[in-house]
Amino acid sequence: MKLILINKRHGGTKTITLGFWSKAILFVCVLALPLTAVTLMALQWSVVKGEHSLLAPNISESWEQQLATQKAEIKRTRQEAASKLEALTLRVAELQARLVRLDALGERVTLAAKLDTDEFDFSQRPALGGPSDELADHALNVPSFMDAIDDLAFKIDDRQHQLQVLETLLSNKKIEESVFVAGRPVTKGYLSSHYGRRNDPFSGREAWHAGVDFAGKDGSDIVAVAAGVVTWSAERYGYGNLVEINHGNGFKTRYAHCKENLVKAGDVVKKGQVIALMGSSGRSTGPHVHFEVYKHGRTVDPASYIRRASR
Ligand SMILES: [Zn+2]
Repeated sequence: MKLILINKRHGGTKTITLGFWSKAILFVCVLALPLTAVTLMALQWSVVKGEHSLLAPNISESWEQQLATQKAEIKRTRQEAASKLEALTLRVAELQARLVRLDALGERVTLAAKLDTDEFDFSQRPALGGPSDELADHALNVPSFMDAIDDLAFKIDDRQHQLQVLETLLSNKKIEESVFVAGRPVTKGYLSSHYGRRNDPFSGREAWHAGVDFAGKDGSDIVAVAAGVVTWSAERYGYGNLVEINHGNGFKTRYAHCKENLVKAGDVVKKGQVIALMGSSGRSTGPHVHFEVYKHGRTVDPASYIRRASR
């Protein structure tokens, strides 16, 4: 017997002559082995089915039991897989709903903050880049719902990041606006004395007036002109009941001659918050608030801050 092998690449041939033993081995490989395998399989099948009497009946019984257990296990695994899939589907739906809500919120925030809508476009996929080494058919093998989950998780992360940036921008803007010293320290009342040189109401001699006075009704509201931290709330010589607020950026304001202070040192106050009631405590001739503005430790004319419009 001769075997001719042809090399596909070079076109060359190789001839092998088979002797008796080679033929015998070939026969065993080609015919005998598959036959044996088929026979064994048939035997096992009949044993499993309980039709063969080669094995003792008790062994056959235990095999049947094992098979029943395995069948039950497969059934349970299938049920588990089905319920897991159901849970995952529900999760995807929930994530999708959350994303829709996040998108709506994002758009609203972008509009409210009057931010560049091109920069924070919630209807577009975020701009990302980088080459991918992944093979096209690899992606095709991944179940589509897993893809959906990954995609959603990615989108939610991205939106969250965008909203965080927006929030930071907004809060910075808000803080900047609220600590901006502007407006009057009273809701009702009139400016009764300007900043600068004047005749002292007690001595009549020329003196320096380090603030402005607003006259009004006894017990009327005195409000903070900007957000800040109360650094003084007690009596102070000449000032009577005094409230002092630090607004940061080197700004401080003082509200003097109060009837009653409504805040205490360490309190954080908002712009427009009522901090005291108007009175005539200390060196005062009648109900008014003596209002001072400090910039880097020195008094400045509050008039320009009162006049400037709130941002
Ligand atoms: Zn005054």
